[in-house]
Amino acid sequence: MSFDSLGLSAELRRAVAEQGYTEPTPVQRQAIPTILEGKDVMAGAQTGTGKTAGFTLPLLQRLSERQINGRRPVRALVLTPTRELAAQVGASISDYGTHLPLRSAVIFGGVKINPQIEKLRHGVDILVATPGRLLDHVGQKTLDLSKIEILVLDEADRMLDMGFIRDIRKILALLPKDRQNLLFSATFSSDIKKLADSLLNKPVLIEVARRNVAADSVDQIVHTVDRKRKRELLSFLIGSQDWKQVLVFTRTKHGANKLAQQLERDGLSAAAIHGNKSQGARTRAVANFKQGEVRILVATDIAARGLDIDQLPHVVNFELPNVPEDYVHRIGRTGRAGHEGEAVSLVCVDELKLLRDIERLIKREIPKIVVPGYEPDPTIQAEPIGGKRQGGNQRHDRGRRAQGNNANTSHAKRKPSRKSSGAKGASADGTREGTAAPRSGRKPGKPQATSHQRRTASSQRGERPSLLGGKR
Ligand code: AMP
Repeated sequence: MSFDSLGLSAELRRAVAEQGYTEPTPVQRQAIPTILEGKDVMAGAQTGTGKTAGFTLPLLQRLSERQINGRRPVRALVLTPTRELAAQVGASISDYGTHLPLRSAVIFGGVKINPQIEKLRHGVDILVATPGRLLDHVGQKTLDLSKIEILVLDEADRMLDMGFIRDIRKILALLPKDRQNLLFSATFSSDIKKLADSLLNKPVLIEVARRNVAADSVDQIVHTVDRKRKRELLSFLIGSQDWKQVLVFTRTKHGANKLAQQLERDGLSAAAIHGNKSQGARTRAVANFKQGEVRILVATDIAARGLDIDQLPHVVNFELPNVPEDYVHRIGRTGRAGHEGEAVSLVCVDELKLLRDIERLIKREIPKIVVPGYEPDPTIQAEPIGGKRQGGNQRHDRGRRAQGNNANTSHAKRKPSRKSSGAKGASADGTREGTAAPRSGRKPGKPQATSHQRRTASSQRGERPSLLGGKR
């Protein structure tokens, strides 16, 4: 099936062709004709499915079918949970709308408000916004939402997770009753269903990926390792397998900063993004990562939301997330739009319960592989992990989800013999990238096995991957 049969105008088909897309994705096949008919939509589609084009293309078409003379009111509003996602959606609207005479703007917090006011004053057809800054504009009377024809809630589950429900309700109260509503969400909790019931009018349901099921195009692996050797193993994996572009998740802002600095010291170029970094610093880090100037981007869950990097080959969970759904979001950053990807989780003894919760959620067991030389020490006891989910408070913390202690800062007793063992791991000793040697007797320079080969070798040796004791 090509884009020609979806009812899109020649201008939009041309823009799609310029993006290099030849076939619509499943969510696009279902959403585009439905939205063009003016119906409300509730779509269960996770990041990476092409959902942005799924709503942007028909939205652009519907607005362009009726031109407004004189001063332009805002006619379409896209709400997103994060600045990054807002910027991504804004970029998609510019790309797909390039041959149409429509104007769009993106507004989010953390940057000056005046340029946004100036832009709004000149007239904007489509506005992409995060809820907080949108309400700031409403408060300053620099924005009128009374002419909205189409509302999109993108990653609605994230918005609720981040405590935006009250802001969303305030915004909904400012919109005209007669409008088209499109709700996109990766998961459907009871809160999302409640929101959908109050918002949508006889919605068409579109579900392209089963709820909470990780994309099949992502090869998932767990490497069990001691908590204090995770950084070393990460450097080793990146160096020995020559990974060029890796997105690494940590649980905390502090952990992200610390890890990026340590990787830099290992000779691997790295940058960290998290909520405490200025918008400028985050944008720069992402741009450098996309262009290949920075090899490793270390991010917290919130900061990474909405990142869209084409064909990202590797995602690493340096620490498992406290919330199992975040695992699905994290690994959704790889294996996007038909490309294969690999998601590697470094799991220490403290995280076994988190791992079990994740496996229960995704309804599959993730293969566990011990990297030779990084066998977990069976004498190390599990320790509590900081940064538990914030329960009731979470709904009101405006995205400032608790950033607990980094598991790496805990002080487990380790066997002294390991510390003094021969070769230094990875590039801790300044070993150049790509020639890192593991702690085991494996020779530097010898081609290292890919994760798939390691897995195969491990099962051929009849080793049962073990979380606690390495090889049994
Ligand atoms: P999304 O799920 O909207 O975040 O999109 C994920 C990625 O898929 C983005 O990099 C898009 O540029 C890309 N994409 C969207 N539609 C298509 C398509 N029909 N064919 C190939 N790639 C696409």
